[in-house]
Amino acid sequence: MGGREATMVLLDENGIRCDGRKVDEPRRIMIKAGGLKNADGSAYIEFGENKILVGVFGPRDVHPKHMSNTDTGILRVRYHMEPFSVGERKNPAPSRREIEISKVIKEALEPAVMLEKFPRTAVDVYIEVLQADGGTRCAALSAASVALADAGIPMRDMVAAIAAGKVADTVILDVNNEEDQAGQADMPIGYMPSVEKITLLQLDGVLTPEEYKKCVEVGVNGCKIVYDLQKKALNDKYFGSGED
Ligand code: UDP
Repeated sequence: MGGREATMVLLDENGIRCDGRKVDEPRRIMIKAGGLKNADGSAYIEFGENKILVGVFGPRDVHPKHMSNTDTGILRVRYHMEPFSVGERKNPAPSRREIEISKVIKEALEPAVMLEKFPRTAVDVYIEVLQADGGTRCAALSAASVALADAGIPMRDMVAAIAAGKVADTVILDVNNEEDQAGQADMPIGYMPSVEKITLLQLDGVLTPEEYKKCVEVGVNGCKIVYDLQKKALNDKYFGSGED
């Protein structure tokens, strides 16, 4: 956060951002349900320049067995970035960042999935980031929700996610990579619109209490846009053209 903003115009005098968007405009979002033959459920998302594939397996037996829980099912999430997904090749070894994002996404999905219906089993969510451009955790979380629904796993709601943030002292929706690096704040939000519950809220940067409230409001509204596209992806697969 900060630092490089002075050398980069993140918001011009007409209120247009570095990639041509308005302050409240998300990037282009395309979500597809299904696609992976060997997974129980899957989804693919393009979120601006982010491209992410998610495969869901389960509920299935837990190995090693001692990790299973007799009272409830467990959710396991692996967020993985391909070495070629970013400009500067990423080391293929699992990074601390990938481990952290896996945990964050798991905890954001847990309130949505009715794991209590599947004691002793595991639901595995594999996230492959093919191309990254800022906001991969939100895009991955949104796609994972669609993949879980595609797998027929009972859920309270899907989690829709997008980041709000702040550049040039202005609250914006959907922070891209440049805005993440040179801007003032990045707030990824995951939200279940039907249940009206936030399951992910992180903040990198500094906000006033008013800006914080505005970011939550802008982020939650953005999640509703993502949610409509998640529902459309499932509708297209199950009630659409019959492809897949
Ligand atoms: N990134 C990168 N190399 C890495 C990790 C991340 O270039 O090894 C980029 C990538 O575009 C990512 C962005 O930095 O989307 C922001 O990463 P952050 O940790 O904020 O997570 P994200 O915004 O993707 O959820």
